[in-house]
Amino acid sequence: MSNDRIYNFSAGPSMLPLSVLEKAASEMTNYNGSGMSVMEMSHRSKVYQAIFDETKADFKRIFNVPDTHEVLFMQGGATFQFAAVPMNLMGASGKADYAVTGNFSNLAMKEAKKYGEIHIAASSEDRQFAYIPPQSALDISKDASYFHYCANNTIYGTEWKYVPETGGVPLVCDMSSNIMSKPVDVSKYGIIYAGVQKNMAPAGMAVVVIDKALAGRELPYTPVIMNYKTTIEKDSMYNTPPCYTIYMLGLVLKWLDSQGGTAGMEKIKHQKAALLYDFLDESAMFRGIADKDARSDMNVTFRTGDEELDAKFIKESTAAGFSNLKGHRVMGGMRVSIYNAMPMEGVEKLVAFMKDFEVKNK
Ligand SMILES: *Cc1c(COP(=O)(O)O)cnc(C)c1O
Repeated sequence: MSNDRIYNFSAGPSMLPLSVLEKAASEMTNYNGSGMSVMEMSHRSKVYQAIFDETKADFKRIFNVPDTHEVLFMQGGATFQFAAVPMNLMGASGKADYAVTGNFSNLAMKEAKKYGEIHIAASSEDRQFAYIPPQSALDISKDASYFHYCANNTIYGTEWKYVPETGGVPLVCDMSSNIMSKPVDVSKYGIIYAGVQKNMAPAGMAVVVIDKALAGRELPYTPVIMNYKTTIEKDSMYNTPPCYTIYMLGLVLKWLDSQGGTAGMEKIKHQKAALLYDFLDESAMFRGIADKDARSDMNVTFRTGDEELDAKFIKESTAAGFSNLKGHRVMGGMRVSIYNAMPMEGVEKLVAFMKDFEVKNK
């Protein structure tokens, strides 16, 4: 069953652990003796409720979520949260602060502008988002309703290596592309959200981890489906949740557990990323794009400096069974996404292919 799989370096939706896909396949038509697929179940049934409860409990335990915080499953992906966050939190002062360090934080900021006054607390646009501003460069307003940043810039390949200090302003973070790749001190955050299709599950929802003290501040016109307080009260089932995606998240969490959880992932991801970055640093052909101290362990961006050679590399790597290495259209070049499910072997083989390509195309 597994022999015909290729190495899929897609930035998202991205590869899932093979054992997870096989488990889902084995339960596809008859889940646990229920006589039906998880896709066919009432979300109010006992059998589904058990899947939901276990998934949520596993998430809380593995992500180390304290009792002050609640875990929500919401449809609409991370983009939905770009609007939900300001609608739910902006009411505090009518103002919010954003750090703009890439494509998605910029989109989040633009969406928030519809609901209040936005102050750009930091930006790395002056050098095409190749770096992460240091703490000393963050200009956070005392009266901001919240401060928003994106922990890993999926397109530009940069990652925050520190948790911003906000002086009491609620900290809101888009962790779509690096959640579950390392332990996180959740208590420092007001809200963490992540579209699940990068590192946790198939597309279809976002996980939101929210400090319960922040719920209930929504602007009056906030749609009920976006209301955090309602979602907390209804345990993410005000309406039909993305049932199958939640089930798949549950399977991925079991797999994560078997790999040592977030601490296990952190160890492996450093090794995988180092393999690629060490090669980029010694290569005379390929050059990393992000500043060294801001390099992402999840999305590795690089180019040759010659667009034709980039195109040749993408074509030949695809033919050799390494898919989705083309950089995002705003960046060009190449991007290797090495989320949790990518085995070390995939990175080793890719680096060997790159070395060979360099020799042959000198
Ligand atoms: C992919 C991505 C998004 C967009 O996610 P959707 O689920 O498609 O809305 C937002 N932020 C980051 C950091 C991402 O990587």
